[in-house]
Amino acid sequence: MKKQKYRYASSRRRVKHNRAAAVVLTAVLIALVIVASIFIGDKLIPVAPGEQGISSSDETPTPSETSESPDKTETSEEATPEPTPSPEVTPEPTEEPVSQGSIPTPEPDAPAYQSKYPDLYVTDRPKMHVLENNSKVVYLTFDDGPSDLTAPLLDVLKKYDAKATFFNCRQSDYQDQYSSLMKRCVDEGHTVAVHTYSHVMKEVYASVDSFLDDFYKMYTHIEEVTGQKPANFFRFPGGSRNGYNQAVYKDIIKEMTRRGFIYYDWDGDSGDASGNNVSGATIYQNTMNAIHNDCNVILMHNIFGKQSTLDQVGKIIETAQAEGYVFKAMDGTLDPTHGYLMTNREFISAALESDLIQLSDWRMEREGLS
Ligand SMILES: [Zn+2]
Repeated sequence: MKKQKYRYASSRRRVKHNRAAAVVLTAVLIALVIVASIFIGDKLIPVAPGEQGISSSDETPTPSETSESPDKTETSEEATPEPTPSPEVTPEPTEEPVSQGSIPTPEPDAPAYQSKYPDLYVTDRPKMHVLENNSKVVYLTFDDGPSDLTAPLLDVLKKYDAKATFFNCRQSDYQDQYSSLMKRCVDEGHTVAVHTYSHVMKEVYASVDSFLDDFYKMYTHIEEVTGQKPANFFRFPGGSRNGYNQAVYKDIIKEMTRRGFIYYDWDGDSGDASGNNVSGATIYQNTMNAIHNDCNVILMHNIFGKQSTLDQVGKIIETAQAEGYVFKAMDGTLDPTHGYLMTNREFISAALESDLIQLSDWRMEREGLS
């Protein structure tokens, strides 16, 4: 009995001892796990300078075609879409380390502005196309809004199920409530693109830096109020070549094209920019003549003083729709070097050099490159 008691007591001691050992072992194991995970965690976070804070766990640590994009929502056309790569799989080495998202690295001796706004690139532009002759596609474009005239214009467009493109800015008489109209534009299937922030030509065109600063301000503003990136194209205030930008337009075009942005002038003009009292009859006639002459991109305005434009839009759409025309919103796939839209060599040369822009087959053929 005594012996039994002793054996019982001794086995209890052994159990106690074993428990203590288990606790110590567990603690050591936990410590090891923590140390290991810190180490592995460090390895998973890319630390290369110039990387833009990619910290997602499914980003592979080595630069590769699948992990180069700084913004996962923007994948380059060139980047082959693959099923989500496992971090354990060693990626195929690429011929050369590619910078993020096919974004071109600033050239040696490049102007400092090339390093500005590293998020201001278009890396997901689809290949462009041209329209057939007499395609009956009309892109109404409205510059300078939003304004008091935007909501009624959207009502008219809705009535006829017509889509349009808005080149927006924030001029001095801008009111905060206009911002929600940009959201409405997007929600109703129209395209919202940058036309610069201030529209003060002297300032916007003072230098490439001023242009970029102003552009970026509007670009981020549109993104903020609409919840999505603005269009991957823009329109220059005053058109791509005007009395204010002679000294800088070539460099601005080069820089914006390098960043993957294209721009549109127009091939049809409503004539509403020539003053605030252009008669409705003139605007109607100019626009219908342009449409009948196979123009596709029509210049109009949607700001204070352009009531007569607004008054004509319904009639223009109704007449043209009855003749078989369709009113679409631009999506950046129309090659701006086609027809009378733009005849700017600077853009063509820069676009041909860019990996971010694929001009249409039509243009490539013209350049002897297809
Ligand atoms: Zn304008």
